[in-house]
Amino acid sequence: MIPMRCYSCGKPLSNLWEEYKEKIKTESPKQAMDELGLDRYCCRATMLSTIEEQDIINLSELQ
Ligand SMILES: [Zn+2]
Repeated sequence: MIPMRCYSCGKPLSNLWEEYKEKIKTESPKQAMDELGLDRYCCRATMLSTIEEQDIINLSELQ
């Protein structure tokens, strides 16, 4: 489910994922990604699209 690397540039993201999830409980995704050093648009897009996929899964589990 969680991409191991950015789809576009290949930057490893899985090691940032848990920290990112913790941060977005109290921060905006933009701020969290800034702090994690995700300055490339492609990496940020990969993280955001992963969040959306997780949200879809969570919603389907509630029904
Ligand atoms: Zn990237």
